[in-house]
Amino acid sequence: MTPYTHSNVARAIVNSMIVGKLNEASETFEGVITHDYNINSTTKVFTFTIDSEDVHYHPPASTSVDTIGKHYLLRSINNPKVRRHYTVSQCMRQNTYKEYLNLIKQFKDGERNFQFNEKVLAEHTSKNEIIFTAKNYNIVGGLSRILHTAATTERYQMKALLGKGLNLQSEGVHVAFAGGTGVLVFMDLVALLLR
Ligand SMILES: Cc1cc2nc3c(=O)[nH]c(=O)nc-3n(C[C@H](O)[C@H](O)[C@H](O)COP(=O)(O)OP(=O)(O)OC[C@H]3O[C@@H](n4cnc5c(N)ncnc54)[C@H](O)[C@@H]3O)c2cc1C
Repeated sequence: MTPYTHSNVARAIVNSMIVGKLNEASETFEGVITHDYNINSTTKVFTFTIDSEDVHYHPPASTSVDTIGKHYLLRSINNPKVRRHYTVSQCMRQNTYKEYLNLIKQFKDGERNFQFNEKVLAEHTSKNEIIFTAKNYNIVGGLSRILHTAATTERYQMKALLGKGLNLQSEGVHVAFAGGTGVLVFMDLVALLLR
């Protein structure tokens, strides 16, 4: 299945139906993938490094609650028609993720007196690095395949941040539905609760 881009006629029809516009505060910038590591045989965590000097975008802080559930829009400069969303998942940074796994293991082993190593959060200070996690759908022409097979040889354009997020409230019952990579929407929330 080749990626589909809607025609200008479709765009014109949609534009004629607009009832209001959200004031979008997102920014667009370019960069490269500078690091990745495997979560499992199909999924990797990528570090996207912004390399345009005139960009003042500040990636979400590891402890930011407001950005949980929001996402980035990514495309390869060589294949610009294929634009895909990737979810903010700060806790998936390599050493941070290891620390959370360690906490979960301790909890499962019956330990209740553990301390989260706050030092791993200090890794999140870089102003130009964005972390995202992508499963390889391995579809020819798809972006996830490019990420998994040629991550570091491509240039990418990213738009951030998009979406409403989880809109978490300080109290009340929150119900989450997740499946597949949709679980990434809730990873930073689980990390927050673990801390
Ligand atoms: C808000 C949002 C957040 C997202 N966050 C993440 C994230 O954090 N991590 C992540 O990995 N993904 C995420 N996704 C999904 C991601 O945007 C891409 O859809 C994914 O990476 C696949 O892109 P692709 O270009 O490789 O494949 P695509 O070409 O987009 O294929 C997408 C889907 O279509 C199916 N498909 C395509 N061609 C065929 C075919 N011929 N026959 C049968 N099925 C087919 C694929 O199996 C797959 O399920 C998110 C999506 C949204 C909307």
